[in-house]
Amino acid sequence: MVGRNFLAHGGTQVWAQFDAPIRNYRGYPSALITEDFVRPPDADFAGGYLIQSLGVMPATYATSLVRGGGLWGEELMTALEHSRFTAGIGINGECLPSDRNRLELADETDEFGVPRACVSFSAGPNEQAIDGHATQTMTRIMEAAGGHHLRVLARTAHTLGTCRTSDDPAEGVVDGDLRSHDVPNLWICDNSVFPSSLSANPGLITMALALRTADRFLAG
Ligand SMILES: Cc1cc2nc3c(=O)[nH]c(=O)nc-3n(C[C@H](O)[C@H](O)[C@H](O)COP(=O)(O)OP(=O)(O)OC[C@H]3O[C@@H](n4cnc5c(N)ncnc54)[C@H](O)[C@@H]3O)c2cc1C
Repeated sequence: MVGRNFLAHGGTQVWAQFDAPIRNYRGYPSALITEDFVRPPDADFAGGYLIQSLGVMPATYATSLVRGGGLWGEELMTALEHSRFTAGIGINGECLPSDRNRLELADETDEFGVPRACVSFSAGPNEQAIDGHATQTMTRIMEAAGGHHLRVLARTAHTLGTCRTSDDPAEGVVDGDLRSHDVPNLWICDNSVFPSSLSANPGLITMALALRTADRFLAG
């Protein structure tokens, strides 16, 4: 069970060029979030997505263009020259648990002799349907704001779910108190205990779980 049901939020971004300088790197990352699409009424999929504004440093924008857009060479340099005039929005899209998606130990070890992680993950039909809906929505938003030369960058965010919570030991690694079913007195309180991804950023929930687990741990 450990390592199965690896979850990652869909994180597709839509960037656009504007006529006036935007300087998105001066803004707070994810300063604006809308949850209007967490359960969109016209959805032909389970779940949904939130949309957040993006504010990234130039180096981060460059790596996103390379990794998510496949840009390189002159095309990449031209896009970076326009970066002061660009703004972007992106999603956290829900990801359904799937036995196909796993984190396993690789044969290769690091400098301390610890096996490296090997992640197998691909978007299933539901994640692809969410991504299609979200890309259309974000495109409409950017065009309505006056953006042009739109660019869609593929991306995933956040690693969740590989020690999922369930009261049934056949379905999960930890119980509702985040205590291991199999190993006596082992408690787990990180992102791995999420049984589903939802669409929220996980950081605050992870911190809350750490405090809650400490309370349960001290209570015996
Ligand atoms: C670039 C980036 C941007 C992000 N932005 C956001 C955001 O805006 N909002 C949000 O909610 N989340 C965000 N996240 C996700 C968030 O940071 C993670 O979900 C969260 O930190 C996960 O907490 P964790 O306790 O599960 O793991 P971690 O924070 O990774 O903690 C694991 C700890 O274990 C330690 N460790 C690992 N191996 C060993 C070992 N063998 N022995 C001892 N210690 C070990 C590591 O050093 C580390 O301190 C972002 C993540 C990244 C990378």
